[in-house]
Amino acid sequence: MRRVYLDNNATTPVLPEILEAMRPYFGEHFGNASSIHHHGQETRAAVERSRESVAALLHCRSSELVFTSGGTEADNLAIFGLTREGDHIITSTIEHHAVLNACRHLAEAKHCDVTYISVDGRGLLDPVDVKRAIRPNTKLVTIMFANNETGVLQPVAEIGKIAAEADVYFHTDAVQAAGKVTVDVNEICCDSLTISGHKFHAPQGVGALYLRKGTQLEPMLYGGSHERSRRAGTENVAGIVGLGKAAELASASLDRGNDAKMAAARDRMERELLALEATGLNGADSNSGRAPRVPNTTNVYFDGIEGEALVIALDLKGLAVSTGAACSSGAIEPSHVLTAMGLSRDRAKASIRFSLGKQNTEEDVDFALGLIPETVARLRDLSPTWSKSALSI
Ligand code: PLP
Repeated sequence: MRRVYLDNNATTPVLPEILEAMRPYFGEHFGNASSIHHHGQETRAAVERSRESVAALLHCRSSELVFTSGGTEADNLAIFGLTREGDHIITSTIEHHAVLNACRHLAEAKHCDVTYISVDGRGLLDPVDVKRAIRPNTKLVTIMFANNETGVLQPVAEIGKIAAEADVYFHTDAVQAAGKVTVDVNEICCDSLTISGHKFHAPQGVGALYLRKGTQLEPMLYGGSHERSRRAGTENVAGIVGLGKAAELASASLDRGNDAKMAAARDRMERELLALEATGLNGADSNSGRAPRVPNTTNVYFDGIEGEALVIALDLKGLAVSTGAACSSGAIEPSHVLTAMGLSRDRAKASIRFSLGKQNTEEDVDFALGLIPETVARLRDLSPTWSKSALSI
């Protein structure tokens, strides 16, 4: 059976050239990068070459990068490492749980006060709200670069400027932005920034935290003096090599304008989906003013269906997509991102995320477009509550 994967915001396949770059580090080049003999020097050199490639992608110095086990660890390292008991933190209602739950933990265990900035119907937050929320004891602003469910890009450069003027740390979770749009730490004016390899074709379990030179950070792990004493533990050399290669390919791809090609494929898919009845885009206002987004993501609601049912029905026909819904105590809860944007619970639960990757082709989009309309229509026919008359409400 043909299978098409359009869930690249969940994870991406490792590209063949990235796997090839990694392969020697599982066998031939096995040294511990901290060893002083030949084997160690070989892997140390590979780790440092990767650091240069990631630094080029983020427009930072290689010494400002800390390799981690992924996005969650990098977010936690920044949030825990830059704050102390009693600090005030500003974040948003639409962050990934790697940020939301780290902030919640600080509120519960370290008496930190957390302010959650809301977003508008397009999923965009207003930097003025961040400015207004800053207090004398505010230590950290943590706002994501691109949302994982809608792909909406936040005004991070403006927020970075506001935080710098107030002498407050600015962290941004750029997990869904890196490799898709230009990420330049100087333009954003951030003190720290998270990326994760598996969101742009490197393997799962490797990521990095950019930490501006001179920024003091309390480590989370205690052990050896790896990563300039910012993250103890023997490096995941093969993973880091994969991350470096992915960064190199992403930089070249952005230079060639491939993000525009990706956006064109996404836009074609979106146009056809939005032509279906009772279907709309999450990440646009009622006048159809689109929010700025990464090029690969579209999040669409199909009124009258259960998102989970559509995901399963499409999967049975070979198409992998996802909902932002979470399963909590056995019940499907609607996405916190979509409800924060003002969607009703029903509409949030009727929403599906489609996310393209570099391996996808125009034929993959055709395949999806060949399946979705008939599947949506069939599910609506089966729904006891769906009626076209509901559309006029
Ligand atoms: N932040 C965002 C925006 C994400 O989308 C994800 C993964 O879904 C993460 C953080 C966590 O990254 P990782 O899976 O590498 O821990």
